Amino acid sequence: MADEVKYNASAAAPGVDALSKSLRESEERFRLLVESIKDYAIFLLDPDGYIASWNAGAERIKGYTADEIIGKHFSIFYPQDAVDQEWPMKELEIARREGRFEEEGWRVRKDGTQFWADVVITPLFEANGELVGFAKITRDLTERYEASLAMQRANQELDLKNQELEERNRELQGFASVASHDLQEPLRKINTFSELLEQEYKDAVGENGRMYLDRIRSAATRMSQLINDLLSYTRVSTQPPRLRSVDLNAVIDEVVSDLELSLTETGGRVDVDPLPTIDADPTQMRQLFQNLISNSIKFHRPGVPPVIRITDATPAPPGGQSDTCRIVVEDNGIGIEEKFLDQIFAPFQRLHARREYPGTGIGLAICKHIVERHGGSISASSVPGEGSTFTIVLPVKHEATVDDE
Ligand code: ADP
Repeated sequence: MADEVKYNASAAAPGVDALSKSLRESEERFRLLVESIKDYAIFLLDPDGYIASWNAGAERIKGYTADEIIGKHFSIFYPQDAVDQEWPMKELEIARREGRFEEEGWRVRKDGTQFWADVVITPLFEANGELVGFAKITRDLTERYEASLAMQRANQELDLKNQELEERNRELQGFASVASHDLQEPLRKINTFSELLEQEYKDAVGENGRMYLDRIRSAATRMSQLINDLLSYTRVSTQPPRLRSVDLNAVIDEVVSDLELSLTETGGRVDVDPLPTIDADPTQMRQLFQNLISNSIKFHRPGVPPVIRITDATPAPPGGQSDTCRIVVEDNGIGIEEKFLDQIFAPFQRLHARREYPGTGIGLAICKHIVERHGGSISASSVPGEGSTFTIVLPVKHEATVDDE
């Protein structure tokens, strides 16, 4: 006969004891875990909001020990105005109704100081749906909140500084236009009267006198040039580019035709590759290439006609159009020593005496400004005695152009 296994209905099956023991142990482990968490205040409330448990994080964040706080109402953590508006109980009500409540707000520590808290309240229900209480998890976000306030303040200060800067720019523009008109006028007078002096008192002033008058006139012409260049420079810095679709080949055709005379004089030529059409300010593009090409003509090697090559060196990205274009302007002129390559884009930087090569030293500073105001960059490289290469990188498309207005 087979062994009969007898079950005693009233006694627990041998495994059940072990299971409930292990459940109790795991509950205990879980309780210990929660109690030991220090970064979060985790505690239980009864259905009316009285505190039923407390952990190390709650003690650290709020300053009460478990003995002091268990049994007290959780509204003790709220600032008086929130208590007056019965906000604590409203939060429990929302959590009960919606299954969860979360907010960030000020809470009060035992010593009366406040901290910025992230609070989550979760209702706890029995299997039969009866509410047994709430779990409340609070994090102290004061540092993060203060950092974000500091960031906001810094942004506001930045806005203010920007406004001031715009104001200064407007003033500068005003100054530039006064400079251009009001300062040009006395210069014109200097020119006119020195001419009259030369014509009407030619004999009286003599050879030396005529030379002095010549120098007065050339100084006045130079000053007028400087004022005009300064005006272009400030115009580029104070006025945002008026972007529209610009065919760079058409721009260069115009520039080359404007420079026809100096090209003929030097026996020079400009070879141009097919160039892209990009979103840019047409006037500023013209100014950019005008400055670069006229420099290449001006700084040609003595006895060597200038040959200027303009190429599209945009690297083709795999499978599509590039976001930026790379245009290279290359000449066979005198070149630039490497140590000066950084300086040439700064205003008034010139590497030669005025007698050798005329100029005000603003041309490349304007080029740099134009390219940067378009969101691009310009750089130079050179082999002294062989030629210079200027590389311009410009975005092909901009979000909004004047054509969209
Ligand atoms: P400017 O031409 O009025 O002197 P720029 O700002 O246009 O002023 O140029 C600054 C300096 O950079 C020039 O004085 C010259 O020394 C050097 N430079 C510019 N372009 C070239 C070039 N293509 N070849 C050689 N030197 C150049």
